[in-house]
Amino acid sequence: MVSRVIPVDPFDLVVFGATGDLARRKILPGLYRRSLAGQMPPTSRIIGAARSGMTPQEFRAFAAAALAEFVSPDKRAPKAEQEFLDRLDYVPVDARGNDGWAELAGKMRGGVVRAFYFSVAPALFGDIAERLKQHGIADDSSRVVVEKPFGTDLPSAQALNATLARHFSETQIYRIDHYLGKETVQNLMAVRFANILFEPLWNAQYVDHVQITVAETVGVGGRGSYYDKSGAMRDMVQNHMMQLLCLIAMEPPYHFDPNAVRDEKLKVIRALDSVQREDIVRGQYLGGAGQAGYLTDAEDPDSRTESFVALKCHISNWRWKGTPFYLRTGKRLRARVSEIAVTFKEPPHSIFDDAPGWRENVLVIRLQPDEGMNMKVMIKEPGPGGMRLVQVPLDMSFAEVLGEDGTDMPDAYERLIMDVIRGNQTLFMRGDEVEAAWAWTDPIIAGWEGQRPHPYDPGTSGPEEALMLMHRDGRRWRDIR
Ligand code: NAP
Repeated sequence: MVSRVIPVDPFDLVVFGATGDLARRKILPGLYRRSLAGQMPPTSRIIGAARSGMTPQEFRAFAAAALAEFVSPDKRAPKAEQEFLDRLDYVPVDARGNDGWAELAGKMRGGVVRAFYFSVAPALFGDIAERLKQHGIADDSSRVVVEKPFGTDLPSAQALNATLARHFSETQIYRIDHYLGKETVQNLMAVRFANILFEPLWNAQYVDHVQITVAETVGVGGRGSYYDKSGAMRDMVQNHMMQLLCLIAMEPPYHFDPNAVRDEKLKVIRALDSVQREDIVRGQYLGGAGQAGYLTDAEDPDSRTESFVALKCHISNWRWKGTPFYLRTGKRLRARVSEIAVTFKEPPHSIFDDAPGWRENVLVIRLQPDEGMNMKVMIKEPGPGGMRLVQVPLDMSFAEVLGEDGTDMPDAYERLIMDVIRGNQTLFMRGDEVEAAWAWTDPIIAGWEGQRPHPYDPGTSGPEEALMLMHRDGRRWRDIR
């Protein structure tokens, strides 16, 4: 099945921070792929902006190098690349000064969607927003896209929200969490709310527990100084993992509408109980196999920042009271895998008392490496020899089912940027959601202040103590592989 591409309205997209790492690795290659797919009307333009004194021609050469490095060979097409590069322009702009703003204003056209991607440090959001308004570059229908981290705690997130709110209304602000742009994450909503099959079982009566794992094999090398101020809780749990938790746990919205969906997600965050100290395990990777340990990567030989966190939480509402949610994320683990596993309870009565092999039903939603869903069900083991049960997967790989070969699926950034142009905020975090998430994580972080994380060997599934978190409940983590 080949995906249908619906072109968006013509637009001018200004990328602040266009010479930075994110623009090079994700934004420019993603925009190219949308252009290649035929989603970008011919008159649409992308204007890079940063302090570096480049000409538009030099910026095109910079973008061409980014495509060469980050677009897969099967998506390289010289004619399409040239068409894309022809859409690019560049203005040197200082977010904190006056240089470049009049020139940028002169480049903006009427009658097209105006969007501004703030791919810069959050400390610059206010400066850019203010100048966009001062110079009449942004108006009441313009859209602004802001990157994570959206604050480092509740007060800083509130301050960022207030800064943006001085210049833009909430309907103009698109806070990116690229996890929400993943095909599987959206499919989670489709599977839950477009089928009758799952929803009747989707509650504490039938779900034993939910596990959410985001495991990485890389360490923090290169990003050590940033990461050390953040840690796994701020970098992964407060945003990506809580968003996944919300989509799994939320009530059906009355409509697939941005505020309806986000209202339901917010209710989940507000219903989260505070986490007990004994229900959290933090870890820090050791060195090994020729690679540095966290304390070397982080540069601070006494750093107490966690590169791993596992926790158990509860949602206090009618649907979920009594069903634990286990969250686990870490760096330098055995494999790179992101998945959600919903484990169902035992049938109320087994007619196969003496049949060996029974296991629980598990619905696994994989976000990476290969996006898809997998439902583990019991069947009779084929052949003679009496009734023996065996667990088999009902497997659905989205790449196989939906793309010609999987390469047609847009990545999260491309999909989200096109949603900005369409004016669809459903997959973006609202200000109150972000603040509620910080209100939940701040006391957890404050509770471990000064404590040393448990060391763990690289290439494992984290500290032993994390295994105990589930063992003592008579459950076990799924293997990271
Ligand atoms: P980066 O590589 O440090 O790039 C920063 C960009 O901002 C550069 O283009 C820089 O260009 C520009 N800039 C800095 N000061 C400026 C000023 N005063 N006026 C105008 N432009 C200025 O950072 P990045 O990794 O691309 O990250 C950008 C944002 O995305 C950050 O908020 C980051 O947290 C977030 N993010 C990044 C990633 C990632 O994978 N890189 C992932 C998630 C979120 P000049 O020096 O030429 O001005």
